[in-house]
Amino acid sequence: MSRVYNFSAGPAVLPESVLKEAAAEMLEYKGTGMSVMEMSHRSKAYEEIIKTAEQDLRDLMNIPDNYKVLFLQGGASQQFAMIPMNLMKNKVADYIVTGQWAKKAYEEGKIYGKANCIASSADKTFSYIPDCSDLPISEDADYVYICENNTIYGTKFKTLPNTKGKTLVSDVSSCFLSEPVDVSKYGIIYGGVQKNIGPAGVVIVIIREDLITEDTLSGTPTMLKYKIHADNESLYNTPPAYGIYICGKVFKWLKEMGGLEKMKEHNEKKAAILYDFLDQSKMFKGTVVKEDRSLMNVPFVTGSDELDAKFIKEAKAAGFENLKGHRSVGGMRASIYNAMPIEGVKALVEFMGKFEAENSK
Ligand SMILES: *Cc1c(COP(=O)(O)O)cnc(C)c1O
Repeated sequence: MSRVYNFSAGPAVLPESVLKEAAAEMLEYKGTGMSVMEMSHRSKAYEEIIKTAEQDLRDLMNIPDNYKVLFLQGGASQQFAMIPMNLMKNKVADYIVTGQWAKKAYEEGKIYGKANCIASSADKTFSYIPDCSDLPISEDADYVYICENNTIYGTKFKTLPNTKGKTLVSDVSSCFLSEPVDVSKYGIIYGGVQKNIGPAGVVIVIIREDLITEDTLSGTPTMLKYKIHADNESLYNTPPAYGIYICGKVFKWLKEMGGLEKMKEHNEKKAAILYDFLDQSKMFKGTVVKEDRSLMNVPFVTGSDELDAKFIKEAKAAGFENLKGHRSVGGMRASIYNAMPIEGVKALVEFMGKFEAENSK
């Protein structure tokens, strides 16, 4: 059995050491006589797991004390509804639409109030981040919403929008823990973990305490109230217990790797290998404006559907999996999250060079 280089956008590659540790603890976790999957979420052993995971995440991200960390379910997509249900006091919110996930959040926001699209990059198939230095922020906006790293299109906000004092809400699903962030600039920073942190089924919401109130939209289900989860420390009901345990292991791995500064350096180095290749290639082209390029998701094309298909097929046979671009854009996409080793990127670039040489006239 051998592991492939998995360039999937999500669920995605996890650190091999984490998988091995989990395998070793599968039948019996630390003297409890059972696996983590089998234990009560109210047991001492599990309490230790979830508390340690939260503390390690707080350490990694320098999360200020006036923020709660919630481990929830429903994926990032459930937050598209949960955010307006909990935050729309004036029933107004501004959205910056930089891709499909931002668009979905915006469409969901419209169900609950007046959601405004105040900037968009749809005019050029989301290949850039619009200038957000002086946007028409609504006077009564409850929040300004962004998707910080656009998984499908491969763009990333390099500077946060000027929200003119309004609460910033950010979906960081595909750049979670890829570099340091200043949590204090956000009201909510959240993401599904299946891109860069752990198994699908967990979504982490980091939320400033003053945004957690009883005052939700009428009809908000109990399970969709931040306050219920905050008051119960993510144990109101049974949490996605095994997934949180794996996330905890990834947090430990990140600490061992040297934390988020080191991760950022590592990610920049990896991405540069691929972008440098794309910039000199006569066959492969990146699809995103240079200054907005993501460190995590790298879409590229040859310009020929036929050649794209041939490349994806031959890459797969050579052990490079999941390079097909999102069904909405086509071409290729290499997702090079934290756990993708630099050797994987180097090997991919070498393979691309070989493919280019073999397939150019
Ligand atoms: C994958 C993804 C989502 C959707 O996540 P689900 O957990 O499947 O709901 C939302 N936003 C971004 C940026 C994503 O990459």
